[in-house]
Amino acid sequence: MHLFCHDNPETLTLETTVVDARPGKVALAQSPFYPGGGGQLADRGVLEWSGGKAEVIGFEISGGTVWHLFGDPVEVGGAVKASVDSAFRRTMRQLHTGTHILNAFVFQSFDGALVTGVQMAADGTARMDFDVPDADNDRLRALEAPINDAIRQDIPVTFTYIGMSVAQAERGLIRSRSVAPPPTPDGKVRIVEIVGLDRQACGGTHLASTGDSPALRLLKIDNKGRHNRRVRIGLAENP
Ligand SMILES: [Zn+2]
Repeated sequence: MHLFCHDNPETLTLETTVVDARPGKVALAQSPFYPGGGGQLADRGVLEWSGGKAEVIGFEISGGTVWHLFGDPVEVGGAVKASVDSAFRRTMRQLHTGTHILNAFVFQSFDGALVTGVQMAADGTARMDFDVPDADNDRLRALEAPINDAIRQDIPVTFTYIGMSVAQAERGLIRSRSVAPPPTPDGKVRIVEIVGLDRQACGGTHLASTGDSPALRLLKIDNKGRHNRRVRIGLAENP
């Protein structure tokens, strides 16, 4: 699925129009919101229109339509202003970029180990599960230093679209053991690159450069079964 926020990650406020409405939910001509997925939480925010305002509390995707859900059964049509909660999006972009950096070093240090799960949280922490059956937890902990070096180096984060079959042929591009991001309607997959460090298929929102993140801490490592090593990371509170 191709989202407006993929190509316009800095556009958090958009004047647009309601193209379809049901009680308590609307579809928009264009939406700045990330509706969630790939372990990244859905954006929060508000819709405002002449004489009204409603909080967007979630999203529902059906048949290629992104429905914006309200807490109350408000009815709205016509012109609206959609605004994403910028602090929340920023935290998600930082965390999401952090998971790629961690993922890059685990992939490099542990023989192409794949991700078995990822979930970001609103409090600025995230967990990533890796299939690293024989890894020593101290070696995983030691990745905190190179991760923060990569943040300090302020490396550009870019994206591009390539054909799904090309993506599947490049080792390490599909990094998750079980799921690949859904292709666009023309069969392309979005590739996010931390230049010189990491390249992988992903449909989330990321920073434009790694230096826009505060330091990242490796908070905890748990063994959750033979194929699930759970690494908890957190954004340091004072960047
Ligand atoms: Zn990503």
